Amino acid sequence: MQIDSGDQTAIRELSALTEVFEKAPAFMAVLGGADHVFEMANPAYYQLIGQRDIIGKPLLAALPEVAGQGYIELLDAVLHTGVPFVGTEMKVLLQETASAPEVVRYVNFVYQARRNRQGEIVGVFAHGIDVTDLVIARQTSEEHAQQLKRQAQMFDSLLTNITDFVYAFDREGRFIYSNRPLLDLLGISLEQIVGKTFHDLPYPEDLATTLHAYIQRVVEQKQQIVDETPYTSPTGVMGYYEYIFSPVLGDDGEVAIVAGSTRNITERVLQEQQKDEFLAVVSHELKTPVTSIKAYVQVLQKRLAREGNASAVAHLGKVDAQINKLTALIGDLLDVTKIKSGKLQFHEADFALDDQVAESIEEVQRTAEHHTIVFEEASNATVHGDRDRIGQALVNLLTNAVKYSARETTVLVKTATDDASVTVSVQDSGVGISADQAPHVFEQFYRATNDQKGAIPGLGLGLYIAAEIIQRHGGTIWVESAAGQGSTFFFSLPVVALQLASQQHSAPPVESAHES
Ligand code: ADP
Repeated sequence: MQIDSGDQTAIRELSALTEVFEKAPAFMAVLGGADHVFEMANPAYYQLIGQRDIIGKPLLAALPEVAGQGYIELLDAVLHTGVPFVGTEMKVLLQETASAPEVVRYVNFVYQARRNRQGEIVGVFAHGIDVTDLVIARQTSEEHAQQLKRQAQMFDSLLTNITDFVYAFDREGRFIYSNRPLLDLLGISLEQIVGKTFHDLPYPEDLATTLHAYIQRVVEQKQQIVDETPYTSPTGVMGYYEYIFSPVLGDDGEVAIVAGSTRNITERVLQEQQKDEFLAVVSHELKTPVTSIKAYVQVLQKRLAREGNASAVAHLGKVDAQINKLTALIGDLLDVTKIKSGKLQFHEADFALDDQVAESIEEVQRTAEHHTIVFEEASNATVHGDRDRIGQALVNLLTNAVKYSARETTVLVKTATDDASVTVSVQDSGVGISADQAPHVFEQFYRATNDQKGAIPGLGLGLYIAAEIIQRHGGTIWVESAAGQGSTFFFSLPVVALQLASQQHSAPPVESAHES
């Protein structure tokens, strides 16, 4: 048989088409006649429907499960009208055998009419791609997005109904969320706050700078920051706020988000201010009459002494001792109000610490009849500061050591230098302080609870004042103790100079006179 060049072109075209048909990732099937008999199907088509014997069979016999899914009707329409049908992400349920599980597939496909040379429609060419993975992936992500949206709505409505401000920033300090109470205070919407830093919002410049710097610090150090600030809103609402900025770490272990919450503490701050003002007024008003009572008692004491009334003088001595206690209490209250208002002033000079220690010991020993205070070691250190105030801090420690230890025990005092600082220690063998209470003893009005507490009077101010004095001198104060094991209180101060051995003063170390 002779093959002409036209035939050769046709053969080449056919083999090229066959290759496309066989290797195409798209599925293809050729259907013929009114029953849509499978004439050809490519491997991608078998991948879709499973390895079944379909060639030569009508569609309904080959794939019985498609009955009722609408595909036969679509094919019929194409066959009758010649109008192609394009399906997008259409769902088809397939079942390879009667006992096999039903699988869901999504397909993008085209049904196209096939015609013979005369132009009559003889069947349908179906081709398309399996987009199941794509559709399922999209459905899943849509579901996730829905879920996230629902969660976000839930958190938002939860957070809207609390009075605290709750908000979050990205790593650059831009708001990514704020609950309604903060938005209401600022008078803006969520859309308006998102993407803004404190500098873009109605905050005074210095406060915005501080808050922004705190966010950067949380990002860098991955640690929470707690602070408080006064703030006046754009509508003139003045308040005090306590806020916490916390790191939220991402998968890489770095800070992804800084979460913030703010509590309005205005009421508490105002109450504290009222209390401070009350204490200031009361202690000030008490001071004058107590001072004049003391003066009258002294006058009376002298007169009765001249008259030789020894027993009345002794009684007045007791009155005087009580007045001294009262004066000390009033002094403490006045000091606290000075500390609170930043008015505690120091008159600073260089002085030999050991001399002051010896004086403080002597002062406390005078009234501590049943204790012995021993100055065991001296440092010869010179420090710079307010001699009287440092003496006051030490007196407070010594008074406590006596107050919280049994009669006939000893209190040991040492001063020791170490590089640039001198440490004073006051050791007693008294009731001690439990580990959970020890960190609080330097707080204002704090009194550790122990069996003796009720019996031992005090306001819980001595250590607070001592701590303030020491810290304002650049020093530190701390305690080592355990319940029932006695306590040692320490404070250290920067040293200006050490005295030369030859200039060593003669007084300490000494054992103070034991009054009985
Ligand atoms: P106050 O003695 O007036 O209560 P302070 O501020 O001096 O107040 O002390 C606070 C608390 O610390 C005391 O109430 C006491 O519980 C405890 N404390 C202080 N010093 C000692 C000490 N040497 N031994 C045991 N407890 C002490």
